[in-house]
Amino acid sequence: MPQINSTNPATHDAHGETHHPTLYLPTGDVVLSATTARKARLFFRIHIFMLARQSPVFQDMFTFVGQNDLYEDTPHIHMEDNARDLEGLLQVLYDPTVLPYKHHDPNTPVRVLGVLKLATKYQFDTLRERIVNHFQADWPRTLYEWDASEALVEVMDGQVEAGGPYLDDMMPEPGAAIQLARQCDIPQILPAAFYHLSRLSMKQDWDECRNGGEASVYLVSSERTARWYLLSREDFRCLLAGREALHQFVLESPQLRIIEPSQHCLFPANCRHRRVDVWKMLEVDYLKGTDPLGTLRKYCASKYSDKGFKELCAECYQDIRAQLREVRVKLWNRLPEFFSLSEVHNLHS
Ligand SMILES: [Zn+2]
Repeated sequence: MPQINSTNPATHDAHGETHHPTLYLPTGDVVLSATTARKARLFFRIHIFMLARQSPVFQDMFTFVGQNDLYEDTPHIHMEDNARDLEGLLQVLYDPTVLPYKHHDPNTPVRVLGVLKLATKYQFDTLRERIVNHFQADWPRTLYEWDASEALVEVMDGQVEAGGPYLDDMMPEPGAAIQLARQCDIPQILPAAFYHLSRLSMKQDWDECRNGGEASVYLVSSERTARWYLLSREDFRCLLAGREALHQFVLESPQLRIIEPSQHCLFPANCRHRRVDVWKMLEVDYLKGTDPLGTLRKYCASKYSDKGFKELCAECYQDIRAQLREVRVKLWNRLPEFFSLSEVHNLHS
């Protein structure tokens, strides 16, 4: 495989044209150029086979590359993509190790966005699949995975040391994840990302919390943050719709029928009162919180030992836990509907 000489300095000419410092390779047989954010042109001299073997679009493009447009005696194609994205793609093709491989890294979506957009556009299917699989693995797709992820958060929280890195630096961030999912057609992660986002306050802002001001208290106390500025108007609409729907779902919770003793109840006279106590306790927690899945999980846990539960007969205890588990499953399954994620609906229909 051709080696990239990372010690080459970038070369400039009077027209604001620049050779890429590591991807203008002397043995390259085609030159690609793209415009930078500063309206300068950046040139890459690379090898046709490196792109053509993985991308049918580039394969076709190179079939027609001729001698009409030469740059330093080499066939040249000017690309419409921005130079930074093209640089990212070429870097990955020449050195796949530059792709982020750390799981739960909150910066992964920001780092791979440009590369993934071009991998999709030019049909680098294997590369796209690799990036998408890595990204998707950071977001739970089932309630079981969601609970496992929340358990991991608890474990990691216990290992956070003063001065950082903070918990928020070690877990996925929803704003950039939603942006990547929207722009690169990966809707499978959206229900979990939107649900997580719905638990956060606007004050829990990724940048604000890292600017050293008052907001940094959120990081110190292991709260999570979001890059709110990456959300589109449509994303905010989905978020608001989801929050309202979750609230409505919680309000309808009396339908849980927790209050009625199990038909197999061992001590109906006692359990009738105790179940009301349990319901009151749950209702307070449930209505005041922003994380109904978390609240219900606490009550479903077998080790949950609140005195209200302790005084129930064994049948009622199991009955209540079974009902709460059912509610959690129902809530999880309705997340795409709550957050107006029709594309996820379609995936499962
Ligand atoms: Zn009972």
